Amino acid sequence: MLIDGKLVKREKLLALKEELAKLQSMPCLCVVQVGEDEASKVYVKQKQKLCEELGYRFIHKALPADIDEVMLIQQIDLLNLDDGVDGIIVQMPLPKHLDPIKVLNTISPEKDVDGLTFINSGKLLQGAEGFIPCTPKGVIDLLNYYGITIEGQTCLVIGRSILVGKPMAHLLLDHNGTVIVAHSKTPNLKELSLQADIIISCVGKKWLITEDMVKDGAVIIDVGINREDGKLYGDVDFDRVSQKASYITPVPGGVGQMTVYELCENTHKAYVKRKKD
Ligand code: NAP
Repeated sequence: MLIDGKLVKREKLLALKEELAKLQSMPCLCVVQVGEDEASKVYVKQKQKLCEELGYRFIHKALPADIDEVMLIQQIDLLNLDDGVDGIIVQMPLPKHLDPIKVLNTISPEKDVDGLTFINSGKLLQGAEGFIPCTPKGVIDLLNYYGITIEGQTCLVIGRSILVGKPMAHLLLDHNGTVIVAHSKTPNLKELSLQADIIISCVGKKWLITEDMVKDGAVIIDVGINREDGKLYGDVDFDRVSQKASYITPVPGGVGQMTVYELCENTHKAYVKRKKD
């Protein structure tokens, strides 16, 4: 069965719009983009489009690729202090001369709607309420929407980035999955994938997951986005693996749909919490 990210996003947007209708003003998201990375431009546009559909205020702070780290940190500090801004994200990747960990941790945890600061990562690790990174949060929402049980299942997460793989593994653990994390130094990926009830591939390698690596009835979540000759591919050989999977996400139209939605949901949460505080 196809896991339809567009459908789930549409339904979740209806619920979010009902919540937004109760507000006296609208949340504001600021995306900080450094440089001219082409894929980043596409992602920023997608965020802007959904924010505009929801009536959010959207600030796109485009900064030059050669910006000095101190200047960038100053810009983020100003956004932290700006009472009109509810959520801040720094679009990755950053140019090589900038330290992403240092830059990300300049964002105030209350406005860290991507959930990547030390505080929010720590809260996720300890099961406390905080901002959860958007892509893994979207995956959990997809699994929940389709009634897919995580508890007691063997879940294989492939990839261990702070943006996707690591938070994904923690969320699955929180949902009582038995979690295996694989990465580029894992020698026996196929052996592990054949044991998995749920496979979540977060790598960025076209067709890394082939049908011989998947057991019958497995749930396949493809987070990967790979561009080739103007076309998008996932990490999974969709046509063949879908013959064996019980549920599978397409690329495009799967997890990517949820990521932008979750960002807007987190920004709404930041707005509500800041107003309450
Ligand atoms: P990343 O930081 O490059 O991490 C990739 C991970 O894959 C690393 O942990 C790496 O292992 C692992 N890896 C590389 N080659 C491997 C192999 N042959 N076998 C097993 N593991 C391997 O990327 P990311 O930011 O996590 O993103 C991963 C993918 O998801 C990308 O395609 C990205 O475009 C996509 N993405 C999609 C969405 C969405 O909304 N759908 C959102 C974010 C990202 P090491 O740690 O050992 O290097």
